[in-house]
Amino acid sequence: MDYEVLPPSPGKHNMENYEEFCKNFSWENVEKEFSWYTTGKVNIAYEAIDRWVDEKNKGNDAAILYSDTEKEVTVTFAQLKEQTNKFANVLTKLGIKKGDRVFLFIPRSPEMLIAFAGIVKTGAIAGPLFEAFMEEAVKDRMLDSEAVAIVTTVGQKSRIKKDELPNLKHVIVIGADENNLESLEVSYEKEMAEASADFTPVWLTREDPMFLLYTSGSTGKPKGVLHTHNIMVGQYFTMRIAHDVQENDVFWCTADPGWVTGVSYSVWGPWLVGKATIIRGGRFSAEDWYATLEKYGVTVWYSAPTAFRMLAAAGDEVVKKYNLSSLRHITSVGEPLNPEVIIWAKRVFDVRIHETWFMTETGVNMVCCYACEPIRVGSMCKPIPGVEAAITDDEGNVLPPMQMGNLSLKKGWPGMMVEIWKNPEKYNEYFQNDPWYVSGDQAFMDEDGYIWFQGRNDDVIKTAGERVGPFEVESKLVEHPAVAEAGVIGKPDEVRGNIIKAFIALAPGYTWSDELDKELKQFVKLGLAAHAAPKEIEVRDKLPKTRSGKIMRRVLKAQEMGLPVGDLSTLDD
Ligand code: ATP
Ligand code: MG
Repeated sequence: MDYEVLPPSPGKHNMENYEEFCKNFSWENVEKEFSWYTTGKVNIAYEAIDRWVDEKNKGNDAAILYSDTEKEVTVTFAQLKEQTNKFANVLTKLGIKKGDRVFLFIPRSPEMLIAFAGIVKTGAIAGPLFEAFMEEAVKDRMLDSEAVAIVTTVGQKSRIKKDELPNLKHVIVIGADENNLESLEVSYEKEMAEASADFTPVWLTREDPMFLLYTSGSTGKPKGVLHTHNIMVGQYFTMRIAHDVQENDVFWCTADPGWVTGVSYSVWGPWLVGKATIIRGGRFSAEDWYATLEKYGVTVWYSAPTAFRMLAAAGDEVVKKYNLSSLRHITSVGEPLNPEVIIWAKRVFDVRIHETWFMTETGVNMVCCYACEPIRVGSMCKPIPGVEAAITDDEGNVLPPMQMGNLSLKKGWPGMMVEIWKNPEKYNEYFQNDPWYVSGDQAFMDEDGYIWFQGRNDDVIKTAGERVGPFEVESKLVEHPAVAEAGVIGKPDEVRGNIIKAFIALAPGYTWSDELDKELKQFVKLGLAAHAAPKEIEVRDKLPKTRSGKIMRRVLKAQEMGLPVGDLSTLDD
């Protein structure tokens, strides 16, 4: 195999030697970091918020650093404790109790986080929704989960179809005119002003549910994934080991709390290690993000390939305007990271980007590249200590190195989902090959245990007896300067089974021509393999993506074949 190797990052790390660390690892040692280990009283909100005030003398430290182009807000841990207590009292007054589903439909803001943690303090189950969801997406999820309440804003409440939600009893509206409330509505500000700042978290067990989150909908209808308070063990641990967050670090995760990365790493992860979460409101722009990195002196930055690709496309001149010398560790998630992008980051930031693979169902990072280890560029490296990963065949047999198969994890880590809401058959599908949790992604492992992502099950292309992962072909295509983004599918063909078809968006300044078409096909053929070269290339202004930034290959495929495109609730317009 042909790949570049980047040596370990300089400096001291929470994990200095992966092999040694794995050998001596036990989850129990991680559990000792939590108060409940000695008190037996469990609630993630206590560990993430109250503890810093009650036990650790960090009440004046920042817990939320929010900014947008108009304002800046800092919320300390002491203020956060008080605000979340108040909100828990507001909910209790409305009759919300343990196990009830309470949804969040609020743009990224301090209120979003306060409401989230307030719900969790009462023992209710929080249901984060992405702020840009339209009516149907909101309705589907609330109906499926029989939610009794939702917290929202004046700007968004019209997208909640109250009449079609028989279980809905309360709509808590931020920014409402309290003299002009509609049916079911209460004013967030009014209720908060009247609520007591004293609240003892409802004590639970680690197995009690904490949040219900719907998947991104890349492969079909989103699934409602239920997670418990025990996810805190995995969140805490991966903040330390995958993101290497240490005493003096400033951590920024750019993900929206409407997706699992946002829940685990923009909200709970930072708090569990006693850090502020940085929330940047407003729309993406390269300048704005670089300015945010500079302003807070971010040292550890967690983002996604689609964002890195946009930053790279904005050009080196923009980066040079900012002092980003504080950056020491970058992590990426959501889609495979094209080698081209890692090389770009190394050049402009002189820092490696570390892959972190996981899914809504796994709750926390599972397969990652680590600061202390070399990176084989294009691989997502190795499972986190405490988790065993294997490539299995469809019967659950472990495959030898270099064979593509199901990326599987030995079940039972803290943070593994406990239920697909009201869908036990779907849940059981993941666990058919006991003891393996079968992810639905295809990968292979090399002789040294590095894992190489190939694509999702449905996306892997069978062509002329070969199996081709779309990711490899896409990565090769974006290496070419004319290609900004690529999505590759198998198009049914009588002779070959499938042919490889690529959809691309051109980089600024390029125009499509027969010569470029030939050149790109040749580029993949010579750079990768003849059988992997696209037979057809189609140019699009942009590729269909989920709102969390993932290319929706199933939409490209359905369009290509003239079939119904299926659930589009998470499609970005
Ligand atoms: P749905 O399950 O509804 O089709 P989804 O799988 O996109 O949507 P998520 O749980 O948000 O929903 O995403 C998990 C998936 O994202 C993984 O199964 C994998 O395909 C992809 N993914 C996440 N991180 C990485 C990564 N570092 N490299 C490659 N792929 C990744
Ligand atoms: Mg999925």
